[in-house]
Amino acid sequence: MQTEKKDIRALTKEQLRDFFVANGDKAFRGNQVYEWLWSKNAHSFDDMTNVAKSTRQMLEDNFVINHIHVDQMQQSSDGTVKNAVRLHDGLVVESVLIPTETRTTACVSSQVGCSLDCNFCATARLKRMRNLNPDEIFDQVAAIDAESRFYHNRPLSNIVFMGMGEPLMNYNNVIKAIDKITSPEGLGMSPKRITVSTSGLPKMIKKLADDDVRFKLAVSLHSAIDEVRSRIMPFSENFPLADLRESLEYWYKKTKSRVTYEYVVWKGINDRKVDIDALVKFCKYVPCKVNLIEYNPIDDGEFQQADPEVIDAYIKALERNDIVAKVRRSRGKDIDAACGQLANKNEAAGV
Ligand code: SF4
Repeated sequence: MQTEKKDIRALTKEQLRDFFVANGDKAFRGNQVYEWLWSKNAHSFDDMTNVAKSTRQMLEDNFVINHIHVDQMQQSSDGTVKNAVRLHDGLVVESVLIPTETRTTACVSSQVGCSLDCNFCATARLKRMRNLNPDEIFDQVAAIDAESRFYHNRPLSNIVFMGMGEPLMNYNNVIKAIDKITSPEGLGMSPKRITVSTSGLPKMIKKLADDDVRFKLAVSLHSAIDEVRSRIMPFSENFPLADLRESLEYWYKKTKSRVTYEYVVWKGINDRKVDIDALVKFCKYVPCKVNLIEYNPIDDGEFQQADPEVIDAYIKALERNDIVAKVRRSRGKDIDAACGQLANKNEAAGV
C-alpha cells in the first residue's frame, strides 16, 4: 500500500536538515532545499537545479510540494486584480491585489469559506470548508508580490488579512504564515506592514497580545451597540462589546499598538444618531482610528449603503472628538473583489 506523501513545506529547516542526515547526506542540503522552497518559490523538485538529480528523485519519492495555482486572474478597470486560487485538493479561495499611487496591498484569505455568519458578507454563505495551511497563505502573498512587480514595477508593500475567513479562527497557521512572510528566508516584509483583521474574538485578541505579535490589528466593529451588532453579525451575541472592549484594552496595554475599527454604515441599520454616539464613546476606550468603508451590496437584501450625509455625520462626530477617521472607497467592485464580496462566484469552492 502506498503511503501518502508529506507536504515538504510543512517541515521546518531543522526537520529538513535532519531528514538529509538520516538519509546519509549532509545537513546543509536541507538549507539548500529550504531556500528553494521559500526564497526561490520552487514549484517542483526539478526546479532545484543545484541539487543532484538523485537527491531530487529521493525528495520526489518522499514528498510533494502543494503549491497553489492561480487559476484565473480578473483585472478591474481601477487596476485591482482578483486571483481565484486553486488549492492542492481542488478547493478555491480568492485573494486580491489592490494598487494605489503609493502602495500595493495584498488582501489574502485564511480559510476556505468562513466559520462565522456576518449577514452582509458573501463568504459567510459558503460556510467553512477548511483552514488554509501556512504555505497556502504564504503562496497567495508571493503570487501577489509577483503580480505587483509585473504590473506595477514594485514589490508588494502591505498585506491585509481581510479575504475569505476569520484569521483568528485559524490562529496557528496564520501566525506561522506571517512568520514566514516576515522572515528574511521568506519575503522579508516588515510586520508593521501587515494587518490582521478580525471580527472581534476577545479571547484570541488577548492571545495575540500575549504572543507579543508585531503586526497591526483591525476589528470589524460595524456597531457599538450590542443588539445592532448581533443583527449584523449574529455570532457576536456570544461576544458582547464589553468583552471586546476589555480584550482591546489588554491588547493596547501590552502592544501599545493602535487598533483600527472597520465600520460600514448601512441604511436603516446603523445610520441613526444613537449609533454615531455609541461609536464615538467606544472609540474613547482604546487609542484607535476608524475606517468607514463603502459597502458593496451582494444582493438586493437588507444591507444597503447608507446615504452620504450619514457618513459625513459620522466623520464630523469622530473628528470633533479627535478620533482619526477615513472613508475608504472600495476597489475592484466590477470584478466582485471589494470588501465582503469574495465568494468564488466564477467557480464553486468545492469541486
Ligand atoms: S466578514 Fe469576515 S468573519 Fe464575517 S463571515 Fe465574512 S469572512 Fe467571515
